[in-house]
Amino acid sequence: MMGAALAVLAGVVIGTWFRPAATTQAPPAATIPAAVAVAPTGVAAPAAVLETPPGAAVAEPAPNTDATPAVLAGPADASELSRLRARGLDIPVKGFSAPQLSDNYTQGRAGGALHEALDIMAPRGTPVLAVEDGPIAKLFLSKPGGITLYQFDPSGEFAYYYAHLDGYADGIAEGGKVRKGQVIGYVGSTGNGSPDAPHLHFAIYKLGPEKQWWRGTPINPFLVWRDAKP
Ligand SMILES: [Zn+2]
Repeated sequence: MMGAALAVLAGVVIGTWFRPAATTQAPPAATIPAAVAVAPTGVAAPAAVLETPPGAAVAEPAPNTDATPAVLAGPADASELSRLRARGLDIPVKGFSAPQLSDNYTQGRAGGALHEALDIMAPRGTPVLAVEDGPIAKLFLSKPGGITLYQFDPSGEFAYYYAHLDGYADGIAEGGKVRKGQVIGYVGSTGNGSPDAPHLHFAIYKLGPEKQWWRGTPINPFLVWRDAKP
């Protein structure tokens, strides 16, 4: 009886001991105050939610940082890239082809961070396309990323992140499924995007075992469609 009680007590103590480690994950970004969350005109109102990811501690991002979820680990390995290449992903801005892309993955951002994404400059309102089939994991409004969409691939191995959207396309909802090439939103400059330089910020993340939309290992999207410069 005494032993059982001690075991229970030990379990409580251990559980308490480990709990903080599980709740110190960084959020993708601080949320925008409600007063700043203005719905764009001319497009479907964003269904973005002003909430904080579970376990996240809200922290004000450094000014001018770009939209980037928390990074899990180092660079993805080559086999992940080759598997992504084999899927023949669509380029996520309508009318663009591979030769028009430029590699800005390693560009610096405020605070010494790297960009770790692909920017595709395009006129405001240009349709943004799903790169492949898969569920919409999250519609999120963040201070750096603005109106964003996180899509998973069909197997839940990768997340595709679309940011600075002007708004979502009609019918786009969290938990819904999109098809490759489907219009999911429109190019804009929400978040910290420059109003006179609308673009899509597109990132790919290898998800961790917990499939958390806000955590992953970044993969250079440019290399999915183009070879690295020698
Ligand atoms: Zn970007």
